[in-house]
Amino acid sequence: MSACASVSGAAEPAPAAAPAQTPEWRLVIHGGAGVIVRGQMTEEAEAAYRAALLASLEAGAEILRAGGSALDAVEAAVIVMEDDPLFNAGHGAVFTAAGTHELDASIMEGSQRDAGSVAGVMRVKNPIRAARAVMEQSEHVMFAGPGADAFAEAQGLDMVDNTYFNTDRRRQALERVLEERARTAADRHGTVGAVALDVNGNLAAATTTGGMTAKAAGRVGDAPLIGAATYAENGVCAVSATGHGEYFIRVGVAKTICDRVKLAGESLEQAATTALDEVAALGGDGGVIVLGAGGAYSFVFNSEGMYRGEISQSGASTAIYRDE
Ligand code: ASP
Repeated sequence: MSACASVSGAAEPAPAAAPAQTPEWRLVIHGGAGVIVRGQMTEEAEAAYRAALLASLEAGAEILRAGGSALDAVEAAVIVMEDDPLFNAGHGAVFTAAGTHELDASIMEGSQRDAGSVAGVMRVKNPIRAARAVMEQSEHVMFAGPGADAFAEAQGLDMVDNTYFNTDRRRQALERVLEERARTAADRHGTVGAVALDVNGNLAAATTTGGMTAKAAGRVGDAPLIGAATYAENGVCAVSATGHGEYFIRVGVAKTICDRVKLAGESLEQAATTALDEVAALGGDGGVIVLGAGGAYSFVFNSEGMYRGEISQSGASTAIYRDE
């Protein structure tokens, strides 16, 4: 039996005798999955996470409400979380074993399946902007390392010193992991992501991470890999993933989910559960957010919890724990 928790939202129920109503737009986000257990978090911390998720949802919703694109919406939603030190994405990125920060990000739009990504950037303030610049301003899909930073700088993006990403909380996590090699998921995990559907039926997906605490310098996870953590195809679905990247790469989680929906006709939840069960069978954990072409969505994760949220013209909701 699957160990996944899942919550799915269909298109809003239509009034009796009316044709099924699909939402005009929708945005679904995650802020990382891991050992997030009710009772182990202070009330203040919980309130701060929920407020941050809402701020991210609102940033993307403002664009979608005004008729803007799913691509702009996922980028805007991710930037809010990159700028918030609560999340392991930009400002709050975890440390590598070498005491530095190397960030990964990817973005994809569903109409032409255009995509862009960066791996191991050390100076770009908002890696998701760099991923989008790769998609729109280069003939390539992926840049890595110093070349990716140089490309972002040449595009006029905000650059920072690597110490901008230093936070006390992540340094303590590094020290814990290095000292004890405890490697608890709570210390090591985190990523942010967003998937959106706009009023023109376009889907988009975006994912950014600092990676895993105490990762080896040069290690690249799933977050910048199209098909592993990020995928979007109009008419099918959009996916953003978070979890132990090595397993998500080996399963090709995001593309597997979209293929199961497209080729096998599975529901979003079925497809996501099957892919995450494959991750679990190999020894990995994490979660995904999936948004379908008709506006239905699903959160599926096999970790204790996942920071997550959803917004459409019907309102917004956020959740953290497994049992909500
Ligand atoms: N998937 C990210 C990585 O492996 C980490 C995470 O999502 O928690 O780099």
